[in-house]
Amino acid sequence: MEKQGNIRIASENMMPIIKKWLYSEKDIFLREIVANASDAITKLKKLSDLGEAAKEDGEYKIVITTDEKAKTLTVEDNGIGMTAEEVETYITQIAFSGAADFVDKYEKADGDGIIGHFGLGFYSAYMVSENIEIFTKSYREGSVGVHWASDGNSTYTIGDCDKQTRGTKIVMHIAKEEKEFLRENTVRELIRKYCSFMPYNVYLNPKDGEEAKPLNTPVPLYVKQPKECTEEEYKTFYRETFSDFNEPLFWIHLNMEYPFRLKGILYFPKVRKQVELERGQVKLYCNQVYIADNIKEVIPEFLMLLNGVIDCPDIPLNVSRSFLQNDAQVKKIAKHITKKVADKLNELYRNDKEKYENCWNDIATFVKFGCIKDDDFYNKVKDIIIFKNLSGEYRPLVSCFGEEVTEEEAKENKEPQTAYYVSDENKQAQYIKMFKDAGLDAVVCDTYIDPHFISYVEYKNPARVRFTRIDADIDGALKAADGGENKAIEEIFTRSLEEKKVKIKTEKLKNASVSAIVNVSEFTRRMSEMNSFYRIGDMPSEITLIVNTANEGVCALPDKDEAKQKVAVEQIYYLALLAYRQLTPEELNVFTKNNNLLIENYLKN
Ligand code: ADP
Repeated sequence: MEKQGNIRIASENMMPIIKKWLYSEKDIFLREIVANASDAITKLKKLSDLGEAAKEDGEYKIVITTDEKAKTLTVEDNGIGMTAEEVETYITQIAFSGAADFVDKYEKADGDGIIGHFGLGFYSAYMVSENIEIFTKSYREGSVGVHWASDGNSTYTIGDCDKQTRGTKIVMHIAKEEKEFLRENTVRELIRKYCSFMPYNVYLNPKDGEEAKPLNTPVPLYVKQPKECTEEEYKTFYRETFSDFNEPLFWIHLNMEYPFRLKGILYFPKVRKQVELERGQVKLYCNQVYIADNIKEVIPEFLMLLNGVIDCPDIPLNVSRSFLQNDAQVKKIAKHITKKVADKLNELYRNDKEKYENCWNDIATFVKFGCIKDDDFYNKVKDIIIFKNLSGEYRPLVSCFGEEVTEEEAKENKEPQTAYYVSDENKQAQYIKMFKDAGLDAVVCDTYIDPHFISYVEYKNPARVRFTRIDADIDGALKAADGGENKAIEEIFTRSLEEKKVKIKTEKLKNASVSAIVNVSEFTRRMSEMNSFYRIGDMPSEITLIVNTANEGVCALPDKDEAKQKVAVEQIYYLALLAYRQLTPEELNVFTKNNNLLIENYLKN
């Protein structure tokens, strides 16, 4: 006997709202229905473990079938099932008010998004169905089959049916304009996306007499204990989950129960190009149900350069994003993940320095970006940040630091130690040679993130270190002694380079073979770099030409006639400039013309 009932008046308003809000992500309905099926099996398993329900003889499973002719998509489980009262309570009342609640929250959230639209539940299937039927039979002894049907608006029918097996079958009559959800391939893709780690086998359109293969992996590697997993398994899991055929460098298996539940694996990928930060993919799951990728409210931004899966049932997902951002529990989880990453890096540094150094190129950007984004992370890894020096060996960042400074000394404005660095080994080759000849060393900071990282380190250690590019300072490193000034030579240069915007200074440098070098102060250069980074426009950086009065050619200048002086000075200037930047076409013209003249004279004499 069928009976009719009213869902609730407000439902007339609810469906259009659900449809409108979730229009772009309607495929989540399948996740919601399959997750319900999976929950129903878990409940039954628990009861049978307690001896309150009969054990399942066969296999616990979820079977999905598409029928293009009948225009139905069906999800069937052999879980706990429902009695007629339970259908009334859970589907017509609770599930309905749950969905209404969701809509309410969603409207308040003002488009802020509810993570993966989690928790919308059973009624989300009305986004694609014009009618839904439930056939269910409870595990309770003596239960009869129940049939429920509704178009999701205000009325439903409920009555008996002759379902013989325990469990629930949800039959979705797919709406005309949603017929893509009747296609086997579409449904397969959706199962892969949302259900690949669901804890029970999920089958799609199994054929009679053929052995069916589940589409999912019910026990994904990350739910196992780390000690049960082999290196090969980690690599396979990586390949299959991220479709990346490069091997990961190393990984972290997260596994904790208390004070919150957290499981997952984070992989450090090989980076393909060094120039920019590469986005990774961190997939968030909740009890093996996929929620979404790269949820920045839960996973610290810099960790999203990694690839990984994180399963955390304790994250309140049916809330708005802004709520998550301020949630204490979520903060703790993020902190824990960050700490684990820092621990892993420290462990590798201590136990396998060689591997660490070999990986450094690939992980450096990640580590430095992490430091800039998170002071705690910086404090945990600052001792294991390394830089190549001029001989190509790695040395720790902290070796650039001066001694620890007391508060007193900091107040007295003690000068921080200068750490020299190279930002481009090719362009700064001449300076590198001079540095090496003078027995000095510098660190190589040549990645995209280094300028920002250097500023960050200075900001964190104002009294201990100041970075200076190898070509930005001659006083500390390259000058031989004071008293190298020579007024006569300075005048010759000033006169010969009159129309160029360049300051002239005479100094005795340690390396006598160099006639002059170009010098731009660290501060000026950084300012102009910053301007072009933020596209404020190019600020002409003021160049100083340091003329080396220890160089014989330079010293010979005052005895020559003015024409010779001019050519020589121009050449010295361009040579110095060449070690610093590219010449403009006009500069190159003069440089080439002068050069030919010099060769001619050289060969004639
Ligand atoms: P939620 O899953 O968040 O509780 P739903 O709207 O998806 O909300 O479902 C409401 C309730 O209906 C569930 O809590 C469960 O009691 C019942 N239910 C839904 N699907 C099934 C199923 N396949 N088997 C048994 N019970 C189900």
